[in-house]
Amino acid sequence: MKKITIIIPCYNEQESIPIFYTESTQVLKALNYDYELIFVNDGSKDQTLITLRQLSAEDPHVVYLSFSRNFGKESAMLAGFHTATGDFVTIMDADLQDPPSLLPEMLKILEKGEYDSVATRRFSREGEPVIRSWFARKFYQLINKISEADIVDGARDFRLMKKEMVQAILAMNEYNRFSKGIFGWIGFRTYWLSYKNVERVAGETKWNFWKLFKYAVDGIINFSQTPLSIASWFGISMTFFSFVALLVIIARRLVFGDPVVGWASTVCIMIFIGGLQLFCLGIMGQYIAKIYMEAKHRPHYIISETNKSDIDVIH
Ligand code: UDP
Ligand code: MG
Repeated sequence: MKKITIIIPCYNEQESIPIFYTESTQVLKALNYDYELIFVNDGSKDQTLITLRQLSAEDPHVVYLSFSRNFGKESAMLAGFHTATGDFVTIMDADLQDPPSLLPEMLKILEKGEYDSVATRRFSREGEPVIRSWFARKFYQLINKISEADIVDGARDFRLMKKEMVQAILAMNEYNRFSKGIFGWIGFRTYWLSYKNVERVAGETKWNFWKLFKYAVDGIINFSQTPLSIASWFGISMTFFSFVALLVIIARRLVFGDPVVGWASTVCIMIFIGGLQLFCLGIMGQYIAKIYMEAKHRPHYIISETNKSDIDVIH
């Protein structure tokens, strides 16, 4: 019998987990597949771990991995992929924003053999602040223009994949992980399912505007080298501009005998160029910071407790 693995990253999800467990188990039991639920406790500060211990004691389908601290959703997903043993693997939010009721349809599409993964996207962003939606849309337009990672607007991490695809994801062993980009970069044939945005059942979102902004910048830096060439373009156009300005000034001096006027404009230009130089240095700094973290080869996560015996607790 084929097996489905569901990976659920959990950060302070004590209220959502029991609801998620009941609902997903109901869907999975009705299918003709073996299954496992891998809950990854990402250093929660609430009763998440206790809830998971209880669940795993009651149900052998439940596996839990508990991190030594909060490593972030990307690390939680990676730990899930390392542990997954299923033929089909998927990530799901603990808050039921990824409806388990879509699973049977997703499986049907994969079983036909034409596709390697079924991904989901929200076709509406209802319930989200207007400014956030606007920035999100702009981000997707930008990153698709300047990188090879083919990222779909509104795409969720909820996608059912064949195990070959999981192997490809694991082969990308970078420290700075940006899954939306990784999924797009590895390719494979993907079928897109759209559904209406669902609000979380309990608890609170872990994202605020600033975190999302930083996430977007990270995504761009991880998958595009275009920002690095901004400095060269500024440099070339400024050199050209200053050359033209020089000719104009010489001509003016020769024809009209104009004395030099205005120190204010000179200072403005100096400040402007200084600003541009620092901006470009800053971009380079961002890339160097990433290289620095990659070069350290630190583990992606540390597991301090689990109910599974044969896994690498540090990876
Ligand atoms: N999550 C996590 N580690 C974190 C933040 C979030 O494992 O540091 C989990 C969280 O418990 C949830 C999923 O990632 O299951 C998505 O988080 P959330 O629902 O807050 O994001 P949103 O759906 O609002 O984008
Ligand atoms: Mg959510």
